[in-house]
Amino acid sequence: MRKNWQIKVFILTVAVTLIACQAVMGPVGDDITIPSPPTHDAEGDGAEMPNTVPPPTEAGDVGESGNPAESCFEGESYHPESELCYRDDGSAEPLFLTMMAGVTDYSDEDFSDAEEVGEEENLVKYTITGNEISAPEYEDVSAELKPLQENGEVHERVWDFFSAVIPQERRDFVSNYLVFTDGKNGTLAAVEQTQTDPYAWMIEIDPEDTADMQDFTFTLIHEYGHLLTLNSEQVKVDEAVFYNPEDDNAYFDAEDNCTTYFTGEGCANSSSYFYLFYDEYWTDIYNEWLDIEMIEDDYAYYDALDEFWAGREDEFVTEYAMTNPGEDIAESWAVFVTHPKPAGNTIAEEKVLFFYQFPELVELRSEIIARAYSRLIRMQ
Ligand SMILES: [Zn+2]
Repeated sequence: MRKNWQIKVFILTVAVTLIACQAVMGPVGDDITIPSPPTHDAEGDGAEMPNTVPPPTEAGDVGESGNPAESCFEGESYHPESELCYRDDGSAEPLFLTMMAGVTDYSDEDFSDAEEVGEEENLVKYTITGNEISAPEYEDVSAELKPLQENGEVHERVWDFFSAVIPQERRDFVSNYLVFTDGKNGTLAAVEQTQTDPYAWMIEIDPEDTADMQDFTFTLIHEYGHLLTLNSEQVKVDEAVFYNPEDDNAYFDAEDNCTTYFTGEGCANSSSYFYLFYDEYWTDIYNEWLDIEMIEDDYAYYDALDEFWAGREDEFVTEYAMTNPGEDIAESWAVFVTHPKPAGNTIAEEKVLFFYQFPELVELRSEIIARAYSRLIRMQ
């Protein structure tokens, strides 16, 4: 493969940037039907706190008899392994899908406004053990960010939602939870390999963007889509790249030696979800897309992307999905989980139907739906 240095450097820059996802660019809410969660203002001590994921109406406390199943609502079963109550008979699905209707309607958002968002600041990093978080490591932050940094209750609440929605055994390679902020809007959440272990991952969430539970739910499922498709069982970790992030040649070599798709973390296994998806939907458009990726000027880049998008509305589930193959599979996965099974045959619909060919993913979808629904109704 011929190497083009400038192109490669640019791609490298893009690829090693953490997978920041699902930016929330501007006010949402007008087009949102249900649910409309109560606005939570943590006042009390006078400190101005952001609106965040609301507290559940019940903390899952067990009844006086000590029987945890007593905290379950009608129709729910108690699941001791996760200590959660949720419906396991499929009855949550239509209710959840109704709640999530319209969540991917980003049509009025302009991604080129991204630069107006504040800088991302890391606040605190937790260690994940099972469903628990511990050992907070605090970053040095300005006085202005202290209240959010010290609001462990909000950090926990955000974590509790994610850990309840995604079954523990499906995220056992996620070892850290980073709380960061770039103010309201901007990036809601992201995932990346940890700094020290390429096989372990970190979930990163900005609590300031978590008040809209519909958006938050979609975004967490989207982030999990990255974890599902990029973990080391799916993608062979490239240690040379991970341990030598400044070494461009290591990256180029890894890319050149990969006959499937090089994700940045490594070479996708030939039977991985990522590669099967890429092979089916990206091989024909990849070069055209790559030409756009090489545009360095932001405005020219977004113009070219707009042009690429025009006429392709029925090939991607959202405009954001067009960003790159990784975002495309994550968005398609999130639509797979949060929307009814498509009945049509557009490419966008085929990308959602793609996931239905894997029984393990259909099963996981049902479980995520049941768990997410049980949490959402407790926040209304
Ligand atoms: Zn993403």
